[in-house]
Amino acid sequence: MLIAGNWKMFKGPRETEEFVRAFSPPDGVEAVIAPPFTSLREAVAGGTTVFAQNVHWADEGPYTGEVSAAFLKELGVAGAIVGHSERRQYFGETDETTAKRADQAFAWGLRVIACVGETEAQREADETEDVLRRQVAALPPHPDLVVAYEPVWAIGTGKTATPELAQEAHAFIKTLIDAPVLYGGSVKPENAAELLSQPDVDGALVGGASLDPESFTAICRAALHS
Ligand code: PEP
Repeated sequence: MLIAGNWKMFKGPRETEEFVRAFSPPDGVEAVIAPPFTSLREAVAGGTTVFAQNVHWADEGPYTGEVSAAFLKELGVAGAIVGHSERRQYFGETDETTAKRADQAFAWGLRVIACVGETEAQREADETEDVLRRQVAALPPHPDLVVAYEPVWAIGTGKTATPELAQEAHAFIKTLIDAPVLYGGSVKPENAAELLSQPDVDGALVGGASLDPESFTAICRAALHS
C-alpha cells in the first residue's frame, strides 16, 4: 500500500526537518511525503520517499515559477503529483497539461501520482463516470503511474466519500486503466482503515492529516491492517 501526504503550501524547510525527525512509518507500507519545492531538500535528507507537488514538461526554459524534472532528480526526489484539483481549479491545469507533465516525469525516471475526480456539481448531474473517463483517458499508461481518485467535494472539506462510493469509483477507474488507485479526500486516522479495506483502494493521498507526523503515522498503520 502506498500512503502519500500532499502538504500543499504548508511547511517550510525548518518545519519539514521537525516533521521528518518525528515521523516513523511502519515497515510494510510505502509512505511518501510531498512538501513544497523549497522543502524538498530537507525532506529527502530525512530518508522518507519524497514526491514534488508538480513538475514542468520542459527540461528547462522560460517558464517562470515552474520546476523541471531534471532539478527534482538532482535533489533525489522520487516522483511528482500531477493534475491535483487545486492546480486544475486555481492554476489552469488541464487534462492536456497534466498528461504533458506526467510524460516528462516518466522520461526522467520519476514516478507519478495523477489526480482525477469529479466536482459536487458533476456528481449531482450524474456526470461522474464521464468526467473520470475523460480525465483517465488523458493519462499516459506507464508502470510507474499511480492514479489518485479525489472527489473534489471531499478535498479539504471534512466530507469523505463513503467506502462504498470510493470502491465504486475505484472499480470504474480500473476498467479504464491498469494502475493502482489511491483514494483522496479528507482521509484521517479515524476513517482510514475502512476506506483502505475496500478491495480496489490501493492506498491514500492525504492532505490535511499528513501535516501532523502522529496522524500521518496512524494512517500508515491503518494501511498495514487493510
Ligand atoms: C488532497 O489535497 O490531496 C487531499 C486529499 O486533501 P484533504 O485530505 O485535506 O482532503
